[in-house]
Amino acid sequence: MQTNNKNIMLCEHCGRIIETKEDLVVAFYFFTLSVFHNECYGKGLKNNVFLSSLPLNGNISIIATIILSVFSILVFFFSPEYYPKVISGIIAIICLLLRIYIWFNYESKFD
Ligand SMILES: [Zn+2]
Repeated sequence: MQTNNKNIMLCEHCGRIIETKEDLVVAFYFFTLSVFHNECYGKGLKNNVFLSSLPLNGNISIIATIILSVFSILVFFFSPEYYPKVISGIIAIICLLLRIYIWFNYESKFD
C-alpha cells in the first residue's frame, strides 16, 4: 500500500478516501471518469441519471471486455461487409484502451 499523496483517491459522492481496491468503483459521471466507494456508487445510482449503470472496473467489466473483444474479432474475420469490421475493431480498441487506462490510473494504485 502506497502512502504517496498523489495516489489518494477521494469518493465523488461523500468526499472520503477510498482505501481498498474492493471498495473502489470507477464509472462515467457527467461523461468523465469518477471514483466512488462501492456503497456510495450504489446509493448514487438510484437517484442520478448522469451516473452510468455499469462500473468500469472489477470482474464484471473484465468479463465484458473479453466477451466484446472476442465478439469483435469474430465480426472482423467473418463479416462479409466492410463497415461492421471497422466499427467492431474500433469498439474493441476503445474498450481495451479504457480498461488499460482504468487499471493503470486507478486499480494499480492499490497493488
Ligand atoms: Zn463515498
